[in-house]
Amino acid sequence: MSANTDDGLLIVSEEICEQVIRRPDAFSAVEAVFGAMARGDAYNFPVVREAIGHADALYGFKSGFDRAGMVLGVKAGGYWPGNMAKGLTNHQSTVCLFDPDTGRLTALVGGNYLTALRTAASSAVSIAHLARKDAKVLGMVGAGHQSTFQLRAAAEQRDFDKVVAWNPHPDMLPRLAAVAEELGLAFEAVTPEELGAQADVIITITSAFEPLIMADWIKPGTHIACMGTDTKGKQEVDPALLKSATVFADEIAQSITIGEAQHAIASGLIGEGDLTAIGEVINGTHPGRSSADEITLFDGTGVGLQDLAVASVAARLAREQGLVTPVAL
Ligand code: NAD
Repeated sequence: MSANTDDGLLIVSEEICEQVIRRPDAFSAVEAVFGAMARGDAYNFPVVREAIGHADALYGFKSGFDRAGMVLGVKAGGYWPGNMAKGLTNHQSTVCLFDPDTGRLTALVGGNYLTALRTAASSAVSIAHLARKDAKVLGMVGAGHQSTFQLRAAAEQRDFDKVVAWNPHPDMLPRLAAVAEELGLAFEAVTPEELGAQADVIITITSAFEPLIMADWIKPGTHIACMGTDTKGKQEVDPALLKSATVFADEIAQSITIGEAQHAIASGLIGEGDLTAIGEVINGTHPGRSSADEITLFDGTGVGLQDLAVASVAARLAREQGLVTPVAL
């Protein structure tokens, strides 16, 4: 649903986003837009990402149009590595929403919290549609900022009773342990091999540039959501895993260029035709998991339409709840 109003521009702060939008809202918005992308009702425009030559910053735009949801907009922002020292998060972004009928700016929405929420919703959608129904053990690879959002969203998709976790920097694991405890889940820090042996569902959410998880550590029937690789050169898993798994992606074009699939594609292990858009499963045009032993892999690279979808929901909820007042532009 568009954040369209007839009477001005909504400014939706980070704090209001945190207050109004819940994980199920983000899940529904992301699931719907993935479905719309697979039907050809929504498309992402080419991404712009540039080193600006100042403050070591990477700055860019992710934009798109969802004709089904009537959401048009752009997420602008990027990465400022020196921000932490200034008490700010290094990733900074803002979503601008426009009225698709007139081009008028309808909302400015803080994008930092929403980025974590929509990324967690993406892997959660993949778990909901692809993981075995009887999955009990959730494996977490990564323990940074995104990881707790990922854990919370994943935990809502299956009746998990345990979290096993591994991180290249073990000192970061207590933050995941605390969330697992809060969710009433047992928690065990393990080796990556042990994680593969135990987990029914795995999420990888690191900024690694080399494989952390090898194909022969993964047991039959596992669903793995690779969420950390969103740039050329990044890599979290053994490319052979993409050969042995059935591979799904948020957007195939992005997955094969900047996602986890870039490496298996480059080495000729798989071809573009081996990937299926997750939206096909959502829309029922692909059956998804076909057996209890099948390994399914979701390559979640992060598309602009996810940002626009959740920003649109946040703007609508903020307005409905009287938390924002339209201003004239
Ligand atoms: P963070 O900086 O808070 O945490 C980084 C994580 O990666 C930690 O687990 C850390 O131990 C690990 N790590 C750091 N350097 C590493 C290295 N050289 N090798 C292996 N592991 C390393 O980052 P975050 O905000 O949690 O983001 C994690 C990743 O997710 C990043 O790569 C980020 O770009 C990506 N991301 C993807 C999406 C998406 O839509 N797919 C969205 C947001 C972030």
